[in-house]
Amino acid sequence: MSLTDMTIAEAGAALAAKKISAVELTAAHNAAIAVLNPRLNAYITATPELALTQAQAADARIAAGGAGALTGIPLAIKDLFCTAGSRTTAASNILRPFVPPYESTVTQQLLDAGAVFLGKANLDEFAMGSANITSAYGTVENPWKRNGSDAKLVPGGSSGGSAAAVAARLALGATGTDTGGSIRQPASFTGLAGIKPTYGRCSRYGIIAFSSSLDQAGPIARTVEDCAILLQAMAGFDAKDSTSAERAVPDFRAAVKGGVKGKKIGIPAEYRTDGMSPEILRLWEQGVAWLKAEGAEIREISLPHTKYGLPVYYIVAPAEASSNLARYDGVRFGARVDGEDLIDMYERTRAAGFGAEVKRRIMIGTYVLSAGYYDAYYLKAQKVRALILRDFQTAFADVDAILTPTAPSAAFGLGEKMGDPVTMYLNDVFTVPASLAGVPAMSVPAGLSAEGLPLGLQVIGKHFDEETVLSVSAALERAAGFSALPTIRAGVSA
Ligand code: GLN
Repeated sequence: MSLTDMTIAEAGAALAAKKISAVELTAAHNAAIAVLNPRLNAYITATPELALTQAQAADARIAAGGAGALTGIPLAIKDLFCTAGSRTTAASNILRPFVPPYESTVTQQLLDAGAVFLGKANLDEFAMGSANITSAYGTVENPWKRNGSDAKLVPGGSSGGSAAAVAARLALGATGTDTGGSIRQPASFTGLAGIKPTYGRCSRYGIIAFSSSLDQAGPIARTVEDCAILLQAMAGFDAKDSTSAERAVPDFRAAVKGGVKGKKIGIPAEYRTDGMSPEILRLWEQGVAWLKAEGAEIREISLPHTKYGLPVYYIVAPAEASSNLARYDGVRFGARVDGEDLIDMYERTRAAGFGAEVKRRIMIGTYVLSAGYYDAYYLKAQKVRALILRDFQTAFADVDAILTPTAPSAAFGLGEKMGDPVTMYLNDVFTVPASLAGVPAMSVPAGLSAEGLPLGLQVIGKHFDEETVLSVSAALERAAGFSALPTIRAGVSA
């Protein structure tokens, strides 16, 4: 098997058995990035020398007998995680020159585990988007193609670079962040597994903030087990994040093998939306049949406030974003455009530094927080958010996990769905409710569309019960036996 085609579990075993070295594994990925990144644009910044230095250290650690499951494993890091000494842009012009003096907790924990960082993955600017088309560093191309077509497709977003890198074999796994679906939807669009853990499971320290009450880090990888291995290292309490949960981190890898026998799986009626694509509906029914065949008990459930998920999300997230992004003023860090006086400098800096989607969110957020509108929009949205959470709590009194589709469609073409922003926001219809409720949710590749593109199913769990999410997802993964590969990938494409 080629080095870039391995799973993290396989590469970890081969490294431990000294069948391969971390340096050769990293060198193979560096070479693949050099060939394919100019085309896919999955990485904003590749760091091949740094990766080789880390790989040498990993080999030394393996030789000394102190290795863990991630020692020597080459990863892509979403360019929203601050990495000490490596440029971190959030895909924005305003952070173009920013080199953080400190490391995010999640990436520090990965480094402590011995992981190798290949570079910083592209994303939508400040993680705002569903197609990786708002990056100031260019769009990312999905390595998958429709049958018989060469049209460029989007990889989903906002963690589109992370997903494209893993799918095209330019990394064995990646970090992502998910505020309203940004791990799950790109995973679905690229035939990968991705989990957004419970809010508070992974520290947000050092992750550039978008919407602080929703942002969560999580992994994207080729298998459910690989996600479990990554999450194991990423998760854990951190005193530097006041919303970090003081909870022990369970053995996620063991949970993957848990099975679904006797588990109660809820099917929410409200996710059967009007105009749902027949192939998405069929895939969902297939998922139900698979879980039933594995011994799960299927129950119809109701999440009555689902239809308010998108409107609530698109008030809460921009409101928090407008506040979080106020810090980019050209004074403390990042880019500055000089002006006639201080206010003029602020205005010019922010006008030049932010792209159209980010400006739109700042304006919506400022509007819904302003005097006179706060009660009508923001406060109302907070109240409905509580009802959405209560829906899940009620449902989880009866079921162990919930099964839904991840996204309403397969990957779409670059340039499609761009007529108005609301069309783009509709992508998030199945992913935002779990974000608003703070519950863990995972996308797992379950089949192909009629056009030959991957489609994901979503498993939603109770707060801090990632273990059930992983075991149900692994059961779906086994049943689906998804083995299709993207058209553009290392070793076969130039
Ligand atoms: N697509 C959603 C948005 O644009 C979600 C983004 C995310 O999860 N970071 O806000």
